[in-house]
Amino acid sequence: MPSGGHSNSWPRLARRRGSERRTSASSSTVSPVPSFASLTFDDGPYADGTAGILEELGRGGILATFFVWGEQVEKHPELVRAALANGHSVQPHCWIHKPHPLMKPDEINADISAMLKLLEDLGAPAPRLWRPPWGLLQRATTQAIAREHGLELAGWSIDSSDYAGTTATTMLGEVRLSMDRLVGSDVPAVVLMHDCPLEPGQWSRRQHVKETTRLVRGLLSDSGQSFAPLTCGLPNGLEERDAQST
Ligand SMILES: [Zn+2]
Repeated sequence: MPSGGHSNSWPRLARRRGSERRTSASSSTVSPVPSFASLTFDDGPYADGTAGILEELGRGGILATFFVWGEQVEKHPELVRAALANGHSVQPHCWIHKPHPLMKPDEINADISAMLKLLEDLGAPAPRLWRPPWGLLQRATTQAIAREHGLELAGWSIDSSDYAGTTATTMLGEVRLSMDRLVGSDVPAVVLMHDCPLEPGQWSRRQHVKETTRLVRGLLSDSGQSFAPLTCGLPNGLEERDAQST
């Protein structure tokens, strides 16, 4: 587990959509603290996806976190600059999208070092978080490298499954259900999404972008739900693997 006691520093998901919620432990009414969730987007930027997501987030007036992919940042630095200019958090994902268990420690270190340099050159605030590809890692190795660079590993607690080819309506229902399950728990609502035009199932890239954008719009229209960028690490979503099973 990453050090740092994330549960103490997180704004907990306490109440949403204006409904009265009770804690399971005491059945007392949850205090009316703001309820936060974080939207996180992996794998961008992409010419046919990022601008639409930024527009949707801007329309909702919320800030999100982008875990960016170095090879894509090199192609579209202007999109990263746009995300930064709009106040979003930009954090490293990877330079090469490869599972850490298949990489030597030196390769992982070179990968994150190159990402940090790239983001620094773009004028991004010094990153604090790092989400490895697919959340796969050999924990001791990646954790040690993260610590060396002053980074916390950041997974997710809600997988939107936007890579699976389901509609925004279905995804929205599932994400809301997951958010409800986290109410009153110490686990923050951190939603994994992709800023990356995948081709899930029989969908076109264009359709995937459309559904992800609709999902963002649906989440932002959820009155009573506040959103904030991710500010510290989270062990959820990260999965220990050895090289043989990856
Ligand atoms: Zn990824």
